[in-house]
Amino acid sequence: MSRGRGRQGQTVSVCVAIGATIRFFVRALSFFAVAVSALAVPCASAQEDANSGTISAIPDAVWAGMQDKSFNPRIKGCAQRRDLRLLSLPFRDFSGAVKQGQLIVHRRVARDVRNVFVQLFTDKSFAIARMDLIDAFNGDDDASMAANNTSGYNCRRVSGSARLSSHARGLAIDINPLVNPFVSRRGTSPKGGEAWDTAEERGKVADQPGLILPGSAITRAFKSRGWGWGGDWRSSKDYQHFSADGR
Ligand SMILES: [Zn+2]
Repeated sequence: MSRGRGRQGQTVSVCVAIGATIRFFVRALSFFAVAVSALAVPCASAQEDANSGTISAIPDAVWAGMQDKSFNPRIKGCAQRRDLRLLSLPFRDFSGAVKQGQLIVHRRVARDVRNVFVQLFTDKSFAIARMDLIDAFNGDDDASMAANNTSGYNCRRVSGSARLSSHARGLAIDINPLVNPFVSRRGTSPKGGEAWDTAEERGKVADQPGLILPGSAITRAFKSRGWGWGGDWRSSKDYQHFSADGR
C-alpha cells in the first residue's frame, strides 16, 4: 500500500509538472497567436474589404456633396438618402490597373450590384474606365458620359422627357458610356461615342475594353439577376444602361 501510494504521489507530481509545462506552452502559443493576429488581421481584412467591396449608408460628407448635383429636392419621386447606399467597388481599368470606385444605388439592389462588380473583378472578365460619383461632374450626365465614367444614382428626368429616370430611383447604372453610347433618332450621346454607335461598328471593335455586347460577362451577370439591358431596346439603344426595373 505504502509503495502504491508513493508511486501514485510520484505519478501525480509528474502529471502536475507536465500539465504546468503544457499550460506554459499553450499560454506562450496563444500569446504568440494573439500577437500575430493583431499584426496580420487588420491588413488581411482591409484587403478583403477592398476586393469584396463595401456597402454603407450615405456618409454626411458625401450627402453634402450630392446637394443640387445628383440630389435635387425640387424633383419629386427621387430616392431619398435613407433609401440609398454608397458602394465602394474594386475594378480593373482599361490598362489593367486595379482601382477602387464609388457608386450610389438603392439599398434594395446594393448587394446585387456589389456582387456583379466583385465577380467581374475576380474573374478579370470586364474592364471599367472610371467609377467616380457623378457629383464629381456636378451631376451633369453629359459630362460624366463624355469622361467614360460609370455612375448610378442621379435624381434627374429621362433626357428630353418629363419622365423620371430609373437613375433617380437608384435602380440603374450606366457603364463605360463613351464606348457604350445612348443611340436614338435624335443622335448619339455622348457625341464622342459615335465610333461605337452602330451594331456593325460594335461588332468590329469587339476587342475594345469595356465594350458591352450581348454575350459580355457584365451583360450575363446583370441579366442573371433579373436586370434589363438598354442594348436590347427596340426604338433606341442604350448600350451603357442596366436597370433593375427594366426601364
Ligand atoms: Zn442609364
